[in-house]
Amino acid sequence: MPVAIFDMDGVLYRGNVVMPHARETLARLRAARWQVFFATNNSTASRAEYVSRLTTLGLGGDEEHVVTSAYATAHYLERLDPKPNDVFVVGANGLRDEISAVGIGVRRAEDQPGAHPPPEAAADGRSPAAMREYLTHLDLPPLPDAVVVGLDLHLTYARLAEAQRALLGGARFVASNKDRAYPVEGRLLPGAGSIVKALEVASGRAALCIGKPEPFLFQEVIRRAGGGGPVIVVGDAPEYDIVAAHKVGAVGVLITTGLTDRAAAGAATGDAVPDHVIGSLDQLFALPQLVDVR
Ligand SMILES: [Mg+2]
Repeated sequence: MPVAIFDMDGVLYRGNVVMPHARETLARLRAARWQVFFATNNSTASRAEYVSRLTTLGLGGDEEHVVTSAYATAHYLERLDPKPNDVFVVGANGLRDEISAVGIGVRRAEDQPGAHPPPEAAADGRSPAAMREYLTHLDLPPLPDAVVVGLDLHLTYARLAEAQRALLGGARFVASNKDRAYPVEGRLLPGAGSIVKALEVASGRAALCIGKPEPFLFQEVIRRAGGGGPVIVVGDAPEYDIVAAHKVGAVGVLITTGLTDRAAAGAATGDAVPDHVIGSLDQLFALPQLVDVR
């Protein structure tokens, strides 16, 4: 059966706003017996949370058809030999939950050193010295064996400091993704890549990336789909979605409703050059690969 893989943020929705034609497009593909999968670099939510969001937005889907960078990261860790058993996460609970779900120990956010600064240290603009004093007098736990980094909307300097300590001590360094930005309602926010880069600089090391543009998410989809049919990928970022599509031999369709406008689409080079560019989801059905889908 043919397979369509949709990126989510910037393609099917922005924040809680569903994109025009999203529901009809997915329904039409499913009616024509295409397998519809969802693949996101966003690591803040578990697959179960994505299914509930997709359901709320009227887009359908179940856990079997959702692949996230958090889920793929957990399965990457699980396959390592030796398997890590004490992971420090710079990221959200969705990422922690996916890693715990494969039986790997994960430190809780509230237990991390530096999570509870006294008011005089915590107050911005008062005394950087108080925060430094606090951080240098913490009771530090043994080093974790891996640091996993994803989008962290509650990032603190103390959390960066603990991750830096672990990385300088030799912990494995894994990034769920390196996205530059997070497109939400009406604006862009910094993506996980901005946090990964901070830790790469702080540690002098490079993180192994699991999310797009690496092929792991799409490989997992193709494995589940059983192979055979054509695979098309619809994404809003040439340097992530389209590069990853080409790594697995899929047709890369860029949509200009998210991170990339039409002018920026034309600037893509090499593997990031999309096979097709569309301005809205209904234009998908004009592409040669989909022209028979009624
Ligand atoms: Mg996107």
